[in-house]
Amino acid sequence: MNTIQPSLETTATVIDKMHEHQQIVFCNDPATGLKAIIAIHNTTLGPALGGCRMRPYRTMDEALEDVLRLSKGMTYKCAAADVDFGGGKAVIIGDPARDKTPALFRAFGQFVDSLNGRFYTGTDMGTSMDDFIHAAKETNCIVGIPEAYGGGGDSSIPTALGVIYGLKASNKVVFGTDNLSHKKYIIQGLGKVGYKVAEQLLESGADLYVSDINEEAVKAIQKHAKQLGGNVVRVTGDEVYSVDADVFVPCAFGGIINDETIDLLKVKAVVGSANNQLLMENHGEALKRKGILYAPDYIVNAGGLIQVADELYGYNQERVLAKTSSIYTSLLEVYKQAELDNITTIQAANRFCEKRMEDRQRQNSFFSHTKRPKWDICK
Ligand code: NAD
Repeated sequence: MNTIQPSLETTATVIDKMHEHQQIVFCNDPATGLKAIIAIHNTTLGPALGGCRMRPYRTMDEALEDVLRLSKGMTYKCAAADVDFGGGKAVIIGDPARDKTPALFRAFGQFVDSLNGRFYTGTDMGTSMDDFIHAAKETNCIVGIPEAYGGGGDSSIPTALGVIYGLKASNKVVFGTDNLSHKKYIIQGLGKVGYKVAEQLLESGADLYVSDINEEAVKAIQKHAKQLGGNVVRVTGDEVYSVDADVFVPCAFGGIINDETIDLLKVKAVVGSANNQLLMENHGEALKRKGILYAPDYIVNAGGLIQVADELYGYNQERVLAKTSSIYTSLLEVYKQAELDNITTIQAANRFCEKRMEDRQRQNSFFSHTKRPKWDICK
């Protein structure tokens, strides 16, 4: 196993691309075919944490850009969730349907271990909990593994709960009450998170419009609604953006808030789990101009992150669910600041996270020579 030695020219380009990133590790193991990049963006709040994505990237540049962008996002997500981690991410260059082997993930685990506690990782797009059972044989720095291995299991449970807290906080600002009932919600995506959100909204007495390409998921939620005496209407295609409802709940994929969809939206708020909902940050301004409240996605969908971060202390579901409830107060603080400073909610969320990091930086400089980091208990 050896670390890729880039040429001098490549090194200059990579360092130029790093901006404020602290460290990039290129991993190459010819015996297993592993080619991966680990990026550590910021460790002010603790060791870097971020999932490991596996994709058949076409070029090394594409993989590098993805890992740099995603690891920076994790710094903000960890700060918003108030977990003792910084931002990091890993990408494995390969086809998840063809190139996965236990040996490849063990090799990846060895590279993670070589960082000696600076980077913790787990599943992301293209990887599963089962893959990380192999990686966990080589390092203690794996999170999000199955319950049978000491992990917290299905992280979509706290993620969905976080969306519910996000909806309550947003309803409080828009409608003056955090009650979820007697409102109409449009849920895009009835997968692991969206389905659970739909169930909880129906149980609260809400009316739903749902959109999913998976017919089975739609039929299942309609059946559930019938049992509860609730109302679920199916919408298809782009109709999902123009429904006359109160809140849009995107739980499928990112980029859905863009020039075309903003014109169509009739809702008063957008609150969902999907990552990177705004195609560009300036779409936050367009929503604000239209009087639509946007709940920054990385605050709303932090429940899963809170769960995996909790594994550091020995997973405890009660603690995870209690901490997930702080999404409600964090969002209210962001909304208040956005209004006071007349900025978008995403700008306010970013400032909120940067302030948390600045505050911790000051504490770190005071304590850094005496404090034994909590995460050492894991080693
Ligand atoms: P999932 O894959 O289980 O569900 C996605 C659902 O969207 C599926 O039911 C799929 O059929 C549906 N879908 C796909 N294309 C669609 C389309 N064109 N129109 C309508 N529906 C469509 O994913 P998930 O785990 O529920 O996550 C949902 C979103 O939340 C993703 O963006 C994910 O990145 C984000 N997220 C999830 C978690 C988590 O804990 N699972 C945590 C943070 C963020």
